[in-house]
This record gives sequence, C-alpha cells and structure tokens, in this order.
Amino acid sequence: MQNYDVIIVGAGSMGMAAGYYLAKQGMRTLMIDAFDPPHTMGSHHGDTRIIRHAYGEGKQYVPLALRAQQLWSELEQACGIPIFAKTGVLNAGPLNCPFLNEIRVSAEQYSLPLEVLNADEVMQRWPGINLPTDYYGCLEPTSGVLYSENGIRAYRELALSSGATLLTNTPVTQLEPAGNGFIVHTESTSYHGDKVLLSAGAWNGSLLDSLGLSIPLTPTRKTVAWFGADENQYSADGFPAFIVRLHDSMFYGFPSFDGSGVKIGRHDGGHAIDPDKLERTFGTYLSDEGDVRSFLETYMPGAAGPLRQGKVCIYTMTPDEHFVIDRHPEHPQLVFAAGFSGHGFKFASAIGEATSQLLVEGSSSLDLSVFSWKRFSCPS
Ligand SMILES: Cc1cc2nc3c(=O)[nH]c(=O)nc-3n(C[C@H](O)[C@H](O)[C@H](O)COP(=O)(O)OP(=O)(O)OC[C@H]3O[C@@H](n4cnc5c(N)ncnc54)[C@H](O)[C@@H]3O)c2cc1C
Repeated sequence: MQNYDVIIVGAGSMGMAAGYYLAKQGMRTLMIDAFDPPHTMGSHHGDTRIIRHAYGEGKQYVPLALRAQQLWSELEQACGIPIFAKTGVLNAGPLNCPFLNEIRVSAEQYSLPLEVLNADEVMQRWPGINLPTDYYGCLEPTSGVLYSENGIRAYRELALSSGATLLTNTPVTQLEPAGNGFIVHTESTSYHGDKVLLSAGAWNGSLLDSLGLSIPLTPTRKTVAWFGADENQYSADGFPAFIVRLHDSMFYGFPSFDGSGVKIGRHDGGHAIDPDKLERTFGTYLSDEGDVRSFLETYMPGAAGPLRQGKVCIYTMTPDEHFVIDRHPEHPQLVFAAGFSGHGFKFASAIGEATSQLLVEGSSSLDLSVFSWKRFSCPS
C-alpha cells in the first residue's frame, strides 16, 4: 500500500489550498476528490465569492480574513490568473442592526477603512440602490470579490507543481484508523496516510459520523441567479459587492462583471438536504427566482431584468453558523475542517495554511480554538 505523510479527503475550497501549503513544506501529499475540482457539485461554484475584513459575524474572524487576503494576493501573483477584484463591499441594514454594529466594532478595533453612510448618501453615491430612510450603509473600500473557481484552479496547479498527487473522480468510501495513521479506502484502492485532513464539505458529516464523532452539520440547498442589469448603474467599474440585511432576511450580490448581469442570492433560509440526493435544477422551487427578484424590484430595480442563469449550490450549516476546525478526539492524526455555513470561501487560503501547520507542526499561527467541535459536545 502506498504511504503518504498526509492524505486530504476532499480537495475543494479548503482541501486544495491545504494541499498546496503541505506540498510546499515538502510533505508527501495525496489529495483525493470525488469530482474534478473546481466543479459544480459542492459549495464553491458560481464564479465569485465576497471577501470582507470587518466582520459582521464576529470580530474574532478579522485576523483570519486579513491573513486570507494576503495569501490570495500572493496566489494571484504566483499563478497569473485573476483571483481578486477590489470592488469594495457595501453592507446595508436597519439603524439598530447587530450585524452592522459588529462590522463597525471590528473596523475600529483593527483600524480597518470603513465609510459609514446614511441612506441618502448611499442612494446618491449608487443611484441603483433604494434604501428605506431608517437604513444605513458601511462601505469597506479595500475588500471585494474573489474568483472562487480560479482560486481552486490556481491552488491545484501550485500543489501539483510542488509535488502533491491528485486523484479526481475518486470518492473516499471509508476512513479506517490504523495505529498512528489512517487507511483511506476508495472503491478500487486503499492508501495509508500518517495524517489525514478531512475537508469534504457537505459530505463531512457522514464521514465524521463513521468515525464516531457526531457534529451538527446540515447541508442546505441554496441558489444564486444572474439578472440583466443597467450597466451604467451596476457595472463592477463603480458598483460594489453588497450585503443587505432586511428585518427578516438577508441578501448578497455582485456587480456586473463584463456584462454578466448582477448576481444575487438569499443568505438565510434554504432546504436541508442529503447532498447525494440534491435537487440541482434551478427553478424547482418558485422561491429560487421569486425571492431574489422581489428583493431586486424593491431595492435595486434597475437590476431586475431578465433571468440570465441560475445555479444550485450547498451551504453546510452549523447551529451557530461558525466553523468547526479541530482534531478528532480519539484519532488526533485526523484534522477536519467543516461547517463553513455560507461564509467560508474567503478564508480558504488562510484555513489551508493553518490546517497544514496543525498537521505538520502540531499548532497553527492563527488561533483556531474558537472553532473547536467541543462547543457542540453534550456535558457528561
Ligand atoms: C451560493 C453560495 C454562495 C456563497 N457565497 C460566499 C461568499 O460570498 N463568501 C464566502 O466567503 N463564502 C461564500 N459561500 C460559502 C463557501 O463557498 C463555502 O463555505 C466553501 O466553499 C466551503 O468549502 P469546502 O471546502 O468545505 O467545500 P467544497 O469546496 O465543496 O469542497 C469539498 C470537496 O470535498 C469533495 N468530497 C466530498 N465527499 C468526498 C469523498 N467522499 N471523497 C472525496 N472527496 C469528497 C467534494 O467533491 C468537494 O470538492 C457561498 C456558498 C454558496 C453555496
């Protein structure tokens, strides 16, 4: 049986980045993926993802976001394909919105550039937006948009040129602890790894269950759609990526890149699913188009043109929407990165680096303790 220093199960957003940082450190690294990343079966497709630094989900994410941004820019320089577009990100919501408040606190604590604008100022600056008068906006001018599929393509190329091996279209069927290592089984072959990184996205829950670790991970069907938009108002030359928090829902979206139209998704809600039985046709539910179209008609009417295309993707939710990055309690040679809950892609570069450090050095330069699985364990 072939032996590797580290086997990565799932070479998508997190796994492919980790593969590069492991191979770069001279680790004999095998990456195994059920598909051929980047692909449309998991959580990373649809061209783009927002990256923000001042963080509404909690200021504890800021150091991770800043490191991630630095690594994305190193990746762009190393691979020569576009990875990041500095469009700025506009966050908007009601005056008393805790999400916006946390953004302001994060920006202040870490001295991040942030422009706070009232509703009139937002609408004057971007006439394509309608905001209620009791809303306001926070523009982060230095953040923007990542080309997610390019990011995975670039990490794949660098990992392979640094000596990693990649098996595509090869689902891992079983993880078997073996002494201080693991035997990783696929349908046709088994491999021995001294260490394992489990980064299988929506499929992490079933693989962790099989190792006796039950973590509340809920794969959830999500959709995004592109709409014809007035290029004068919504082109990426002047219009930022955006997140709008309404009283009972939250929408996010992207300006039109080279005439692509405005891409938009609803962040809250969605249907819990089994990722092997996911209904992948956009439009299966009326809400696939209906939710985002009614948002656009009210708040960005010039972007509510014809539907250009729609896609179905997966969030893997945790109950508190924070990530789970840790070691298996009984098999510490296995590190897992899971539950990225609809906001993980921006961090993939930094999480790839940090998990590689956990595996090689035993600890990471960024503090990952807030992501411990133990917050979900029942007191004994
Ligand atoms: C519509 C949508 C919009 C989003 N917007 C944003 C955003 O704006 N900003 C942001 O930061 N994040 C965003 N996210 C979240 C982000 O994309 C995800 O958190 C992130 O991609 C998760 O990465 P992952 O590595 O866990 O999963 P993936 O990238 O899906 O990787 C998991 C990999 O594991 C493989 N795999 C699974 N099972 C097996 C197996 N048995 N054997 C081998 N391989 C296996 C899969 O094929 C896949 O390649 C969004 C997500 C969606 C769906």
